[in-house]
Amino acid sequence: QQRAVIVGAGMAGVQTAVQLREQGWPGAVRLIGAEPHPPYDRPPLSKAVLLGKGDETEIPHFDIDFGALGIEVELGRAVTGLRTDDRLLETDAGPVRYDRLVLATGAEPVALPGSEGVPGVHLLRTLDDATRLRPVLAARGRIVVVGAGWIGAEFATAARERGCGVTVVEAAPRPLPGALPAEVTEPMRAWYEEAGAELRTGVAVASVERGAVVLSDGQRLPADAVVVGIGARPATGWLKDSGVELGPDGAVVADEGLRTSAPYVYAVGDCASFPSHRYGRRLLVHHWDNALQGPRTVAANLVTEGHADGEAERVAYDPVPYFWSEQFGRFVQFAGHHDAGDELVWRGTPDGAAWSVCWLREGRLAAVLAVGRPRDLAQGRKLVQQGTPVDKALVADPSVALKKA
Ligand code: FAD
Repeated sequence: QQRAVIVGAGMAGVQTAVQLREQGWPGAVRLIGAEPHPPYDRPPLSKAVLLGKGDETEIPHFDIDFGALGIEVELGRAVTGLRTDDRLLETDAGPVRYDRLVLATGAEPVALPGSEGVPGVHLLRTLDDATRLRPVLAARGRIVVVGAGWIGAEFATAARERGCGVTVVEAAPRPLPGALPAEVTEPMRAWYEEAGAELRTGVAVASVERGAVVLSDGQRLPADAVVVGIGARPATGWLKDSGVELGPDGAVVADEGLRTSAPYVYAVGDCASFPSHRYGRRLLVHHWDNALQGPRTVAANLVTEGHADGEAERVAYDPVPYFWSEQFGRFVQFAGHHDAGDELVWRGTPDGAAWSVCWLREGRLAAVLAVGRPRDLAQGRKLVQQGTPVDKALVADPSVALKKA
């Protein structure tokens, strides 16, 4: 019996295992994960889980009967190396052979230099992180959040809801730097203020000590706890000497079929980048939908690999990236990909409760950001997917649905 082994039991790994069965993989499926907990979903960790009481019912475990699907799940086992010539994984509990391998090790949060090991400093990636943070919120102390990205904003939302004093420190001049243009994120400052969180932009953290954060301008912010949300990097350190190609961003370099540079080895989710035909560039996507959709392609190609007509059956992965965030009482959604040259069109005004922004390229919708307008997102996402021409005047009118010209 052929053995398909998946490393990483997060969304991408779990979905790959399920898709292998759905798409008729006849061999064994083994899912190996380093975390001790049964597989769970990550987005609730910066939302409901932080506010919950912490009993078992609140843990967002995936509702999947692995046994019934013939999927062997091994938890608390870390994979430490890969020998592609021998088709062998090294793990902290001995070697594991494979015939097909899927890398789905996700990402690791970036630590703030100099803050490692300082008591009271937290990251937020795993269920254990969220569990440690729950009593910190319940204590209603002063919390300094480093980074006004997606995680920082969601954490600040939960902490304010619990009644903590919250200061968010962001080195860039505005929230969500890198993700969205200034025109769009500038209005989001008001969200922090409204929620009673102080947002300090354009100032870096110089050092973190027990009970305080010292800023580059010399200010000292007292902090009962510090939560660092300054980004994540692919969890691929263990692949360094394996011969599997890694990009400068640390991601496994996958092709359009999510195959890696090594034979019989695939990669999917937060740990892998792939070439986007749609956008003419390589994408490294750190969002949930990518970990949900990518595994379909992996399973399709893995199942047909080696078939006589395998070449014809190959499936390419070319998604319209999608993500959402829940922050400061708002539902924020984004679909597509925009570049500096795209034309930005507002639907509504950012001081209103609900508004959207569209990016147009050559008369077509390239991306849409919707705040409290899920219908714009759903309709816009379809238009981006189909690449149909749109009428700019209609796009700018929030009272009419987003539709083709
Ligand atoms: P992961 O979920 O990181 O899973 C990888 C697993 O592999 C981990 O369990 C890890 O322990 C394991 N692993 C790593 N290395 C090894 C090894 N060497 N051996 C064995 N196992 C290993 N996205 C959105 O679109 N919307 C949201 O609102 C949203 N909220 C989020 C909130 C939080 C707090 C976080 C952390 C992420 C959020 N995301 C959100 C992003 C989304 O959760 C990720 O994109 C998604 O989890 C990626 O899935 P993955 O399976 O690729 O990686």
